[in-house]
Amino acid sequence: MNSSHDNYKKKLKEAGYKLTPQRIAIINVISENKGKHLSTEEIYDIVKQRNPEMGLATVYRTLQLLDELEVVSSLNLEDGCVRYELYCHTGEHNHHHLICSNCGAVIEVEGDLLEELEKKIEMEYDFKIMDHKVKFYGLCRNCKNLV
Ligand SMILES: [Zn+2]
Ligand SMILES: [Zn+2]
Ligand SMILES: [Zn+2]
Repeated sequence: MNSSHDNYKKKLKEAGYKLTPQRIAIINVISENKGKHLSTEEIYDIVKQRNPEMGLATVYRTLQLLDELEVVSSLNLEDGCVRYELYCHTGEHNHHHLICSNCGAVIEVEGDLLEELEKKIEMEYDFKIMDHKVKFYGLCRNCKNLV
């Protein structure tokens, strides 16, 4: 167990949940596939190779719980697909996602880039911004050239 696992363990423990083998298996799959934004079905496919006894319903329920506890972060795509990645606990805001409307590619944006907008909002609305989920829709490098 590395230190990032200890963080997730702590999160679960604080909320009164145990770090069960199922939860560990799912956290491992998501952490091993960084940047891939796996869907519930994709996570299930990988998890069941190692834990054949685990059903899709368990994976589904576990992901919802981990999402609530901010162990994982969900990304809702307009095709009805929910994708997951590990929640970032570095104190930084969630990265932005670029979503290709043609091929469905999900690209991560490095850097927040919203500092100015956030400052403005906090002043104008007397609102403390803790995080954000920003999605940009468009065409990726490959698809742009096809249109
Ligand atoms: Zn931000
Ligand atoms: Zn594309
Ligand atoms: Zn991401």
